[in-house]
Amino acid sequence: MLIILHPDTDISSEAYRETLNFIDALPGVSSKVHEIQGQQQKLTEIYLLGDTKKLNAEELEALPAVERVVRISEEYRILGRHADSKRTTGFHYNGLTFDQDSFHVFAGLCAVDNPTHVEEMMRALKENGQQCTRMGAYKPRTNPYTFQGHGKDCLPYVFELAGKYDIKVIAMEITHESHIEEIDECLEKTGRPTGVMLQIGTRNTQNFELLKAIGRQKEYPALLKRGFGISLNESLNAAEYLASEGNANVVFCLRGMKTDGGAPHRNLVDFAHVPVIKRLTRMPVCVDPSHSVGNHERAPDGILEVTHATAQGIIAGANMVLVDFHPHPSKALVDGPQALTMPDLPAFLEDANLCRETYLKRQTIYKKAK
Ligand code: PEP
Ligand code: MN
Repeated sequence: MLIILHPDTDISSEAYRETLNFIDALPGVSSKVHEIQGQQQKLTEIYLLGDTKKLNAEELEALPAVERVVRISEEYRILGRHADSKRTTGFHYNGLTFDQDSFHVFAGLCAVDNPTHVEEMMRALKENGQQCTRMGAYKPRTNPYTFQGHGKDCLPYVFELAGKYDIKVIAMEITHESHIEEIDECLEKTGRPTGVMLQIGTRNTQNFELLKAIGRQKEYPALLKRGFGISLNESLNAAEYLASEGNANVVFCLRGMKTDGGAPHRNLVDFAHVPVIKRLTRMPVCVDPSHSVGNHERAPDGILEVTHATAQGIIAGANMVLVDFHPHPSKALVDGPQALTMPDLPAFLEDANLCRETYLKRQTIYKKAK
């Protein structure tokens, strides 16, 4: 059961104390307080665990600090939608909003290789009105003898260039909890010129200790990739691990499933699950067409297959697109063949915005029909 307190309830107030005292005295029930800092107000939610079936919701709703009570199922306790459509979705980070109504494109390098390429990428983003990017510093590679990313050595120039080109949020995969500290230290040293969204890659979706470590900190939001070979339910539970440790600022990313059924694409595109995740949870949903499709092939209609897949995700309501670009794909150290190029960028963004507008128009058709 979930108890939602009145917004901005002061935890030193009499109303809060009285409410908590009542909850603490409930037999066989334990509670966990979860605070959500919004742009305008702070929301406090109290999760009741244990023997909650017999509890009287009306009695709890009569407590002085309580706004409303929601019965929740066992699945996705914090991130789930449950029976209450009024609960907020998403979060604010570094001046940008990430929720189930927002839309951002994170175009950038799969892997950072050198400052020149980072700068070329960021300049192109700035020229095209973008404030987000992806920059891989820590790369989980299948082959141990291939380039593993420049790690913390590249962070200073990545962050400084982000500041120079007004990039507000960088999606950056981490593969070990020590990377959180490396990123934090470098951001601090460079004067926090940008923000970082910590990406958990598909190979680490069920790395529970990594999830717990990212969940324990609240400074950086998380971008969790769906596991390529596990059920959607298992991946959504992985996201809940982050929230259960205290960090509910999570974006969920579809990136295709590993099966021969997807060939000749790298993975089977799974963007039909965008509305499913929105129905089951309150997380904003991202699609990654690059790691789903994995090529730079153009269909006979002149549109890249990566861009076709992107359109499918956006038209289904995706809130974020994570996509590989590179100024010189033949020189890229990771995933060059699937990278889009700087000349591809304006058309990619125009198409993305067109699909987004179409999605919003599609919504109005069904609002009218209700
Ligand atoms: C990536 O986004 O760079 C990446 C490695 O993706 P995935 O974890 O989905 O394979
Ligand atoms: Mn990649």
